[in-house]
Amino acid sequence: MSELQRFLFDGLPVRGAIVRLTDAWTEVLRRRAANAELGAYPPPVAELLGEMAAAGVLMHAHIKFEGALILQIAGDGPVRLAVAQVHSDLTLRATASLGGPVPEGIGLPALVNPGGGGRCAITLDAAARRPGQAPYQGVVPLADDAGVPLPSLAGVLEHYMRRSEQLPTTLVLAADAQVAAGLLVQRMPRTGAGNLGGAPEADAAAHDEDYARIATLAASLTRAELLALAPQELLHRLFWQEKLLSFAPRRGAEGPRFACTCSRERVAAMLRGLGEDEVRGILRERGDVEVGCEYCGRQYRFDAVDAIHVFTAADQQPPTPPGVQ
Ligand SMILES: [Zn+2]
Repeated sequence: MSELQRFLFDGLPVRGAIVRLTDAWTEVLRRRAANAELGAYPPPVAELLGEMAAAGVLMHAHIKFEGALILQIAGDGPVRLAVAQVHSDLTLRATASLGGPVPEGIGLPALVNPGGGGRCAITLDAAARRPGQAPYQGVVPLADDAGVPLPSLAGVLEHYMRRSEQLPTTLVLAADAQVAAGLLVQRMPRTGAGNLGGAPEADAAAHDEDYARIATLAASLTRAELLALAPQELLHRLFWQEKLLSFAPRRGAEGPRFACTCSRERVAAMLRGLGEDEVRGILRERGDVEVGCEYCGRQYRFDAVDAIHVFTAADQQPPTPPGVQ
């Protein structure tokens, strides 16, 4: 069963989370494989997308935010766009579009960044966002400050957290055809309400050392261990000498699970975005408009009457949020 486990280190401004996606992840892969047109993901793409899904859950676990966290990588290699979307209730979905053949064993730089044009965007799309209000978005290149391509998604996100959130973070991510998993440990903010007790931090230097020790332990986790072991067992192995406070794990109906937010209304909004001329052109060509959701594979069919009605309906829907098919 998929699960998310958050934890704290007693008395230290260090927090963490571990996620293990099993059924939630295999459902993403199964739906893609069932799509006759697109076909199953090549292993390197599945690995990247699984790591993105795990990272999305870990990042959402540490923000007080109602809405969708959307992790996107736009690339100039075989992967053109990869998207993982996680909601506050831990429902998630993910998809990738490919622009060419994917050689076996290919890593992140060759997969999405051979020309140096790859970008990673983190979007927070609030559930209560007012019409016209833009979602928050942070964008980072897939290279470090010196322009050297980062070898892994974990490295890209660590770089992002350090640079834009000022939070030293250690991430370990891994995914295969059965499991997508991740471990995050993070130095909490030095002052303010986010800190333990809410007071300015008195012994920051000592706590920096504590974080460095915990980060080293976290980084010693191998991909094979992360994929094979249950969260509780991993935490015990890594941090048995630390005073760990674990929250109740979120599993099952409360845990990370696959769900798609596509709907006929959202597809209608997308058609409105295309414009009436374009849609009439499609109708002339094939008599109807059929749109498949890339995340879940659901097909939405609009016959000529339905398709034109989209442009005459009085109750116009708000524009489609990012990442929604
Ligand atoms: Zn869908």
